[in-house]
Amino acid sequence: MAEQVQSRPLQVPTRGDLHLTAPVSREDAYHWIDANDEELPVLLAAARKARDRFKPRVITYSRKVFIPLTNLCRDYCGYCTFRRDPGQPGAHTMTPEEVLAVARAGEKTGCTEALFSLGDKPELLFPEMRETLRRLGYRSTLHYLEAMCELVLRETSLLPHPNPGLMSAEWISRLAVVSPSMGLMLETTNPSLLAPGAAHDNAPDKLPAKRLRTIEEAGKQGVAFTTGILVGIGESLQDRVDALLAIRDLHRRYGHIQEVIIQNFRAKPEIPMHEWPEPSRGEMLRTVAVARLLMPNVNIQAPPNLSDPDYEELLDAGINDWGGISPLTPDFINPERPWPHLLELEKRTKAKGFELRQRLPVYPEFLPLTRGHGETGVSPVRRMGTPGAPESLLTSRVETVADAAGYARRVA
Ligand code: SF4
Repeated sequence: MAEQVQSRPLQVPTRGDLHLTAPVSREDAYHWIDANDEELPVLLAAARKARDRFKPRVITYSRKVFIPLTNLCRDYCGYCTFRRDPGQPGAHTMTPEEVLAVARAGEKTGCTEALFSLGDKPELLFPEMRETLRRLGYRSTLHYLEAMCELVLRETSLLPHPNPGLMSAEWISRLAVVSPSMGLMLETTNPSLLAPGAAHDNAPDKLPAKRLRTIEEAGKQGVAFTTGILVGIGESLQDRVDALLAIRDLHRRYGHIQEVIIQNFRAKPEIPMHEWPEPSRGEMLRTVAVARLLMPNVNIQAPPNLSDPDYEELLDAGINDWGGISPLTPDFINPERPWPHLLELEKRTKAKGFELRQRLPVYPEFLPLTRGHGETGVSPVRRMGTPGAPESLLTSRVETVADAAGYARRVA
């Protein structure tokens, strides 16, 4: 973020100029994210080359169950179909029995990730949620999340990956005891999206500075962290680059960003932004490719169900991961867009020349047993293995489900 925009003129390569190499500077990224149709093949070729240097021949995914612990949320993002107010049809906070039933069903279908996705601190706004938590015996949604992560860890072979919104240093530390990785989408660094009528109007937890603080705190604690940007929620092309650079900057300082998600906005009839234009395929390809060139040695992911049909084209722009795919639970964030069948995903991935491999929610290079290195070559220091019962449980669970290379152990 401290990088300055230089004023030297852009060198605009022509078609066939193959000297575009990663990592690119901010000013070049500003240019390439707006590449014209003639330049696009050059951009994509450079991104593929960078991806193939980073992780040749293998594309990963995480087989998961989606656990929507609560869909009550104190924020009102303009693109969200997930959130509910208390009393609205579909409003629900899962019981521990429901959590365990989903996790156990996932275990039977070879899942290794329990993705906990939930609204941000609903008890701050809704007395009904405070009452639900009181009945369940917890002081806050994060206390309840912590207990449910531990329950899944204790009772099943799944590894929790919580996505609870903003987290304090204390909560990152507590959740790191019961999960090998966690996540928070940065979404954008443009605070003007909180203006009246914009995507983050009435979404106080989407203030970019607060989200950057959470991601930075995870870095300080050496927690493997997933983040990413949303494409098409009212941000400019330069905003996309700025958000990616903010992530890169944090990763350069702490080496903890295990994955950057490039997620495209999809319009749905029931959301306030139902009339907003969706980003085109070309915009997605350019954004993914620029992300790859800005962070050549970071895992870049784009969800296939949001780019169906022809999602395999995202491979041409330099992704190396399809994210979490569930054979069991719907995508509760985008319920109208089912995940592809795993055999179909494998077929299309193979047709592009790659092997599809199942990873854990924590990437292989962030595991103590296979500790690799981030973009800077600095290994993140994981907190796993600190003396104490729950952390030992986490360590032993990870060792049970990981193979020697740090991927999910293949089930015979
Ligand atoms: S996107 Fe997340 S924070 Fe925003 S309203 Fe939906 S659940 Fe809440």
